[in-house]
Amino acid sequence: MIDRRNHHLFQPLLYQVATASLATSEIAWPIRHLLRKRREIATFLASVEGIDTEGRHVLLDDGATVPYDTLVLATGARHAYFGHDDWEPFAPGLKTLEDATTVRRRILLAFERAERETDPQRRGALLTFVIIGAGPTGVELAGTIAELARTTLKGDFRSIDTRESRVVLIEAGPRVLAAFTEDLSAYARRSLERLGVEVALGQPVTACSAEGVVYGGKTLPAATIIWAAGV
Ligand SMILES: Cc1cc2nc3c(=O)[nH]c(=O)nc-3n(C[C@H](O)[C@H](O)[C@H](O)COP(=O)(O)OP(=O)(O)OC[C@H]3O[C@@H](n4cnc5c(N)ncnc54)[C@H](O)[C@@H]3O)c2cc1C
Repeated sequence: MIDRRNHHLFQPLLYQVATASLATSEIAWPIRHLLRKRREIATFLASVEGIDTEGRHVLLDDGATVPYDTLVLATGARHAYFGHDDWEPFAPGLKTLEDATTVRRRILLAFERAERETDPQRRGALLTFVIIGAGPTGVELAGTIAELARTTLKGDFRSIDTRESRVVLIEAGPRVLAAFTEDLSAYARRSLERLGVEVALGQPVTACSAEGVVYGGKTLPAATIIWAAGV
């Protein structure tokens, strides 16, 4: 088993690390430890940089080679910005533990900065959380950020009321959770709206910057933007 990370990651719960409900150690375990009872498996921490199919070995980043009879490649996926890679610094995605802690830091720092911001417009932008893409990742994130703002953090601040935060879920397609049936999409949308999430459908984001996002011809100032628009 060769992996460039020392841990196996349970990606379905990344959104809970990103919203401070779980610690990183609750969703990631050392691969070596998970496989400790399988004496026939050796675990190497290394990045595979190439494959020599003629010679039947993989090439590691430190120059070493590992021979094989049968090779299984299972390197996973990474989110895509569909031609807008320059948006990544403003709108991080959620695939790795580092992504989750980056998102967590941005969300929590936005509340901290809002607490000390005296300009109402700047404060409004700090308390606006935009999630781009209403697939499972975007829907889970939007719902949990709304719960964080309305329930978990309620009463922890003095100058701001975290319940006044805006959580805006922007989706280019006509409904949330497009892979599910229409009645389930409608149910999910109603549930999100009950939590206080603003759901904007049929409006692709056309610009993303440190100031916020542009969608449907409107500019929405927002300090925290999260990318959940696909892989
Ligand atoms: C936020 C989020 C929520 C999700 N929620 C759900 C859910 O609720 N239900 C569900 O069924 N699925 C969910 N998924 C999808 C599910 O987690 C993935 O389908 C699953 O993790 C894919 O497993 P994998 O082994 O193919 O890839 P990964 O889990 O991505 O594993 C790939 C591994 O390859 C390693 N690697 C990559 N390149 C190299 C290299 N060159 N050299 C060495 N190692 C390398 C990586 O370090 C990684 O450990 C979710 C995913 C995300 C991101």
